[in-house]
Amino acid sequence: MKLYLSLITAAALSLSACSQESAPAPSAPASTPAVSEVAGASDAAAPVADESCATVVESNDAMQFNTKEIAIKSSCENFTITLKHTGKTPKEAMGHNLVITQASDKEGVLKDGLEAKIENDYLKPNDPRVLAASTMIGGGEETQFVVDTKKLSKDGDYDFFCSFPGHGALMVGKVKLVD
Ligand code: ZN
Repeated sequence: MKLYLSLITAAALSLSACSQESAPAPSAPASTPAVSEVAGASDAAAPVADESCATVVESNDAMQFNTKEIAIKSSCENFTITLKHTGKTPKEAMGHNLVITQASDKEGVLKDGLEAKIENDYLKPNDPRVLAASTMIGGGEETQFVVDTKKLSKDGDYDFFCSFPGHGALMVGKVKLVD
């Protein structure tokens, strides 16, 4: 009986402790810049490309890329490549894309791309040999695509190239997975 009473007392004490703690809260000055903080937070959450996990490659009316090598950091889960066409010629005459395959797959992908025609950006649809590819663009345009770095390995031999007919011989370079 004594134990029972002390339990009741303990419960009553803890209840009163609770109500005492919560009581002062409403009288405390309301600190509520909450709305603007939330707005700021959503701004900060907007996707910002990590510069080390992204690069820009330019192409031009002279059928050239401005680089012969794209180095992709292995620590990047995804690597974003922006392809720019700094020329003026429309895509039908001087289209460029950027396709990444194993070096040994390049010729086969180019050959099948020729048959796929421009409506498929000169790439066979859903070609499993294509590890990553941009859309095809014309002069003054730019496009962006993402490379899944899990598809690459450090000892692999990878090419990037343009699959527009006749461009693959000149517009070609190496993709390397680096630390
Ligand atoms: Zn091209």
